[in-house]
Amino acid sequence: MTWQQFLTEKVLGECWHDGTSILMAGYHCKKCDKIFTCNHTFDNRNDLLDLYEAIYRDGKWDEFFWFSASHCKPKREGLGCSETTAWLFCLDGKDYEKRCKMVADFYGWNERDPVIDKNSGAYGDN
Ligand SMILES: [Zn+2]
Repeated sequence: MTWQQFLTEKVLGECWHDGTSILMAGYHCKKCDKIFTCNHTFDNRNDLLDLYEAIYRDGKWDEFFWFSASHCKPKREGLGCSETTAWLFCLDGKDYEKRCKMVADFYGWNERDPVIDKNSGAYGDN
């Protein structure tokens, strides 16, 4: 399971669509039977905020905030100050993907999940 699939299914509780193309309309998902255009990419503001909202709904925002603060290396101020929040919300417009991936880490995503090794071969040769 990729970290993007993990975030979609385990954190957002949505379907990681898997389907086939149908003429100009997009794709038909064979799991949820919906028409979709693409899965979450987790490299943009919308996806990041969806994740943060999900964390908040889970009642884990406080825990997550301090987890993430430990990954931030503030230069001027201490942990938990304005510098950390700017970093957390990518106010410089960069690194959405890194913050999203941090959410996956927070929820325990593990790229060495045996399911991945067995089914995808993604960790084969490199
Ligand atoms: Zn689906």
